Amino acid sequence: MAFDIDMIKEVYAQMAERVDKAREIVGKPLTLSEKILYNHLWDGMPTKAFTRGKDYVNFAPDRIACQDATAQMALLQFMQAGKDKVAVPTTVHCDHLIQAKQGAKEDLKRANETSNEVFDFLESVSNKYGIGFWAPGAGIIHQVVLENYAFPGGMMIGTDSHTVNAGGLGMVAIGVGGADAVDVMAGMAWELKFPKLIGVRLTGKLSGWTAPKDVILKVAEILTAKGGTGAIVEYFGPGAKAMSCTGKGTICNMGAEIGATTSTFGYDDSMERYLKATERADVAEAANKVREYLTADPEVYESPEEYFDQVIEINLSELGPLLNGPFTPDLSTNVGKEMTEKATKNDWPIQVEWGLIGSCTNSSYEDLSRASSIAQQGIDKGLKIKSELGINPGSEQVRYTAERDGILGIFEDLGAKIFTNACGPCIGQWARYEDPKNAPKNSIVHSFNRNFAKRADGNPNTHAFVASPELTAAISFAGRLDFNPMTDTLINENGEEVKFEEPTGWELPPKGFAVEENGYVAPREDGSSVEVKVAEDSERLELLTPFEPIKDEDLSNVKLLIKAFGKCTTDHISMAGPWLRYRGHLDNISNNCLIGAVNAFNKKTNFVKNQLDGEYGGVPDTQREYKKKGIYTIVVGDHNYGEGSSREHAAMEPRHLGVAAVLVKSFARIHETNLKKQGMLALTFENEADYDKIQEDDTFNFVDIAEFAPDKPLILEVTHADGSKDTIKTNHTYNDAQIGWYREGSALNMIKKQNA
Ligand code: SF4
Repeated sequence: MAFDIDMIKEVYAQMAERVDKAREIVGKPLTLSEKILYNHLWDGMPTKAFTRGKDYVNFAPDRIACQDATAQMALLQFMQAGKDKVAVPTTVHCDHLIQAKQGAKEDLKRANETSNEVFDFLESVSNKYGIGFWAPGAGIIHQVVLENYAFPGGMMIGTDSHTVNAGGLGMVAIGVGGADAVDVMAGMAWELKFPKLIGVRLTGKLSGWTAPKDVILKVAEILTAKGGTGAIVEYFGPGAKAMSCTGKGTICNMGAEIGATTSTFGYDDSMERYLKATERADVAEAANKVREYLTADPEVYESPEEYFDQVIEINLSELGPLLNGPFTPDLSTNVGKEMTEKATKNDWPIQVEWGLIGSCTNSSYEDLSRASSIAQQGIDKGLKIKSELGINPGSEQVRYTAERDGILGIFEDLGAKIFTNACGPCIGQWARYEDPKNAPKNSIVHSFNRNFAKRADGNPNTHAFVASPELTAAISFAGRLDFNPMTDTLINENGEEVKFEEPTGWELPPKGFAVEENGYVAPREDGSSVEVKVAEDSERLELLTPFEPIKDEDLSNVKLLIKAFGKCTTDHISMAGPWLRYRGHLDNISNNCLIGAVNAFNKKTNFVKNQLDGEYGGVPDTQREYKKKGIYTIVVGDHNYGEGSSREHAAMEPRHLGVAAVLVKSFARIHETNLKKQGMLALTFENEADYDKIQEDDTFNFVDIAEFAPDKPLILEVTHADGSKDTIKTNHTYNDAQIGWYREGSALNMIKKQNA
C-alpha cells in the first residue's frame, strides 16, 4: 500500500557514489543536508559545488504530498499536462476541510456532507492518475506521511508549509506552492535556491516536564520568526539522539515558524525503532546499510562552526517548559512567575478557556500518552479540568491505538472533546463562536504550531499560547496561564492540596500500533477509464481549459487595469479567508482578483477606471468588461510585487481574466515564476522612475514583442489620454524554455505538447 521500498532502495543505491563525488567537489566534509541535496540533483551526479543562499538548483524529489485545500487547483492543473500518471509517488490527504464542533463522529459526517464534492473530486482524480488518497478522517497529512512515507535521506515536497515535519525521520521535506508540485507530478525538475545551513547542537537530555516542543519553542525565541529564512536547520548532538523520532518531528514541524526552508535530523536508533514500529523494518534495514550517508560526516559534528553558516547550542538538561505567544510563536515565556509578570504587564487574560492537544505538530502516540499521564493523575488526585479540553489525534492509527490503550478514555473521563483526526482548530476550522469577530478577549493554550490572531477560532481577541501537550494538559486543570506544574499545587474536590508528578509516557505503543480502517484508498493500476467527478453546476470546482497563447498582434492596444500602489502581496492579488472555498474554481475565485491592491490614482482598493466607459468599478468586474471586448490589459506595480504565499491563484486569476502582462519595479521571485508558468509577461522597469509616467488612461503597445528573446529588453510605447507618448524600456528574466511557455500559452501547454 504505502511506501515504495524499491524507490527508497534506489535512492540509497546511488547515494554513496553521489555523496562521495559531492564531497570531493565541495572539498570538505559534508553536512547531512548537503548529502541529501547532492543526492537529489535533477542532473544526477554532482558536477559543481553550489553556493549556499545564491545558486538556483534543479532537484528531483522522491515524493509529493498534497492536502485537500491546496490539492484542488494543483490537480486541476496536473490534469492539463496530458499525463496518464503522476511522475513521482504522490498522496492526497483530506484534513483541512473538516470543522471541529461537536466531536469526531458528528463533525466528520457534516464535513462529508458539506465538502462531499471536493472529496469526491480528489478521490476520483487520485484514482485516475495513480495518486494515493487518504480519505477524510484518515489523519493529518504530516502525521500520515511520517507514519507511512517519510524515510531517512529522502527528499519530498508538499503543498503545505508543515511538510517539513518529515525531517523528524531524516528527510529534507519542503513546503511548496501548487505550481511547483504540478511541475514535479508532470515529470519536471523542481528548482530551489541552495539553502544556507544552520546547525543546532543539542547537548544534555530532556527530562521531567521538558518536551521536544520546548526545544523548538526555544529555537524560535533564539532565531525569531524570520531567523531560519532560506536555511535548512540541522539538529545533532547527544540530545538529538536521546529524543524520540516523533519528538524530532515536532521540532522539524515548527521549523516553519522560524521561516526555515526545512529542518532535519541524522538517522539514529530512534528512527530505526519508529520505522520498525510502523511496519517498515525493510526501510530500516536498507537505511542501516547506508547509515554513514544518513548523518553528517564526523568532522562536522566535531567543529560545526566550520561547516554551518550559523551554529546554536542548547543544553536540554537546562531547558524548562515554555509557553510561546500570544500572536507570535517566537515570544517565549517560562512557566510560572515569569508568565505572571508578563501577563499582568501586557494584560493577557490569565484564565485559560481551552486547552487543545494535537494537530500535526504534537499528536503522536508519545504526545498523547504523556498528556494522558497528567490527565490520569488529575483524576486520581480528585481534580477536575477548569479549562475545556479538546484533542485532535494526528491519524486514525494513532487514534485507534490510543483508544485501544485507554488513553482517549482518560481524556473522555475528564469531559474532553475528541475531535476528528484532522486539522480542525489548528486552521480556524473550529466552530467555537457564532460571531467570532465580536467574541470576547480570552486565552487558550494549545500544542499546535501557529498562534497568530484569529488562526484557531477566528476571534481576533483570542490570545493563543503554544506549549507541549503535557503542559497543556496540566494548565487545563489549573485553568490558569501562570500555573507552574513543577512547583504549584491545586486544591482538589475534597479541599486537599495536590501536586502533579512529572509526566510519563511511551515513545511507542507497548503493544504496537493497530488500526482497523486507516482511510487509505489505493489508486487503480490503470486509471484510464476513471471519470473525474466535477458537477457541472459546482461553485467550488471547475475543470480548467488550457490558456490560449497571447498573440503578438493583440498586444498593440493593451489597457491599464490597475497601477498598484505600495505593497502588493499575493494576498492583495488573491485574498484568502472566505475565498478559500473557491480554490478549485478558477472563474469564481477570480472574483477576488486584485481586490486588495491599492489603486495608485485614488488610493482606494477595488476601485479602478474602466477606460471603455470612464466608469469606476471593482477590479474583476472592470477586467471582465475588457475581456468581453477582447482587449488585453496590463497591471503595473511597485517593489517586491507578489511577495507572500506562493499560491498560484495569484497568477492564474489575472491570466484567466485576460491580463497579458505585469510590469513592476521588482518581483517576488516565486510569483514572477508563477506568472511565467501561466504564459504571461512578467516585466520590470529598466528605469524605476518610469513607474511615475504611467497614467490612469494609458494604452500600451508592445512594439517588439515579436522579437521576445532571452536577455533582450522589451520596449513599450505608452499612449496617454492627451495623445502624448512615452517609451518605456522593460527587462525580463525569461530563458528560452520560459519563452516557450509564453508562446504555448502556459508551461502546462508546453508539457502537454511535449508529451504528445
Ligand atoms: Fe497545517 Fe495545522 Fe493541519 Fe498541521 S494541523 S497541516 S499546521 S492546519
